[in-house]
Amino acid sequence: MVVGSGFGGLAAAVRLRAMGHPVVVLEANEQPGGRASVWHRDGYTFDAGPTVITAPYLLDELFAALGRNPRDYYTLESVDPFYRVLFPDGSRFDYVGDDERLLSQIQAMSPRDVDGYQRLVKQAQAIFDTGYTQLADQPFHRFSDMLRVVPDMIRLGSYRSVYGMVQSYIRDERLRQVLTFEPLLIGGNPFTAPSIYLLIHWLERKWGVWFPRGGTGAVVSALVRMLDEVGVEVRCNSAVTRILVQGGKTVGVELADGTRVDGQAVVYNGDPTFAYSKLMSPAERPSWSNAALARVKPSMSLFVSYFGTKDTLRPVGGPAPTSIKPDTSKSVWPDLAHHTIIMGPRYRELLDDIFEKKTLADDMSLYIHAPTRTDPALAPPGDDAFYVLSPVPNQRSGIKWEDHQARYQDAVMAELERRLLPGLRDRVTTQMSVDPRYFEGRLRTVDGAAFGPEPILTQSAWLRYHNRADDVGGLYFVGAGTHPGAGVPGVLCSAKVLERVVPAPAERIAVPPVLSGAWPSGLRTVEGEQASSRSVA
Ligand SMILES: Cc1cc2nc3c(=O)[nH]c(=O)nc-3n(C[C@H](O)[C@H](O)[C@H](O)COP(=O)(O)OP(=O)(O)OC[C@H]3O[C@@H](n4cnc5c(N)ncnc54)[C@H](O)[C@@H]3O)c2cc1C
Repeated sequence: MVVGSGFGGLAAAVRLRAMGHPVVVLEANEQPGGRASVWHRDGYTFDAGPTVITAPYLLDELFAALGRNPRDYYTLESVDPFYRVLFPDGSRFDYVGDDERLLSQIQAMSPRDVDGYQRLVKQAQAIFDTGYTQLADQPFHRFSDMLRVVPDMIRLGSYRSVYGMVQSYIRDERLRQVLTFEPLLIGGNPFTAPSIYLLIHWLERKWGVWFPRGGTGAVVSALVRMLDEVGVEVRCNSAVTRILVQGGKTVGVELADGTRVDGQAVVYNGDPTFAYSKLMSPAERPSWSNAALARVKPSMSLFVSYFGTKDTLRPVGGPAPTSIKPDTSKSVWPDLAHHTIIMGPRYRELLDDIFEKKTLADDMSLYIHAPTRTDPALAPPGDDAFYVLSPVPNQRSGIKWEDHQARYQDAVMAELERRLLPGLRDRVTTQMSVDPRYFEGRLRTVDGAAFGPEPILTQSAWLRYHNRADDVGGLYFVGAGTHPGAGVPGVLCSAKVLERVVPAPAERIAVPPVLSGAWPSGLRTVEGEQASSRSVA
């Protein structure tokens, strides 16, 4: 069984089902998706979490694994620019995928960095070739797995931070920020995340940035639909309150209502720190004493506000656009991109406040998601749907969010209005916000970490929670808390690792064939990679 229906849990269910296992997914909340849940409010559709879809072949692979054609289930739209980055001095940088446009922007912003960027991108490519291609979907539960990769890590300078490496190639501070913010997308501080995470830069350049038609939630629904077709039930409102262990092996789980669900294998998709500390007794997990669990450093948390705005997508005086990627040049905010990052006045110091000092600063850097700039159907005609995200300290800060939530939301909206969306507050039609309490409560994450353990060298690969539990036979982990780490590509890779650590079933249960639109072997996925064409019975 799989506990949790985040992307990692759903992908795990697919992979196990493709191996021939019977599978059920137990989800605590009323809807699947975890961090990729969807809020419907006043006619607006808000993706709660992931919005930047990278390495889309990993999603396609899941459909191929069960003999389905992903194009029968969801459609991805490319996003250009990947991100628009705004700086306090009024300058802006469009981070795009193609070399020529990217280099001409670097040339315009800082001519002396063109050569440095070209060398940096080669380094990012080399890191990707090892850190992603060779390691991301490999198990790391033996120390020897780690020893094997140490020489490569040293050769690639993984002991340096992302910022440390970028600054040795790039001199303009704004460009350094553009090229180092990516670890933040997976909960890492660019000043402490190992430079191996520079691979994200090449991953985005190589495969692009995508957005699903209908929002990220449409992909979650597609996965649930496909799982249903192959006999996998995603059972919501089923919180697991105990992992049952007998003689060093798992025998199933107990739910909040006392129901027992038996099974020889439990794949836990939630926070491993939560699983070990709250769902098992210390005697059942000698490798993870309470003291050892307390030493795990959780990632930062987030404040996210979801809101809609009236008549801002519509050209002034004109009809509401309905086509995908509408022309917004005559809309109220003509320069608004799908993904915008507003850099605050402080970079290193702000990150230090968030990650180390754990204080809530007055200044902020924000990420703004405006999905209606790609798909207008996510809001009532003519309106925009948004979320704005501000990284904040996790709950080890002691911040009492009940006292700060309203004030912080006002501060975020004021900053948005000042830097990006003039007249914003007069146009807001609906709004809701989440803060670290949401990650701690609804998503059952210790300390309200938004991305599992912080991605630092001492919490990566073998040093991260293992995909196969150390002490309990039949217990496995997938998702952000385990190897390789957070982010949709990371958690999809964690599910791939299962194929290498979960034994094949004694008796294989055949996957029902698709009625139409089978995935022909050899067909290429959206980005040109060969889909893995596992045969299904
Ligand atoms: C606001 C936000 C924006 C993000 N943006 C991006 C982005 O643009 N691109 C990107 O690649 N990544 C992004 N990420 C990161 C990415 O969303 C996550 O790393 C990834 O979705 C986590 O997936 P997961 O498999 O770890 O499961 P989660 O999504 O964490 O889901 C775990 C599930 O397990 C359930 N669960 C936990 N405990 C139990 C229990 N005891 N019993 C039953 N169920 C339980 C939870 O309810 C939850 O549904 C973002 C994250 C956030 C929060």
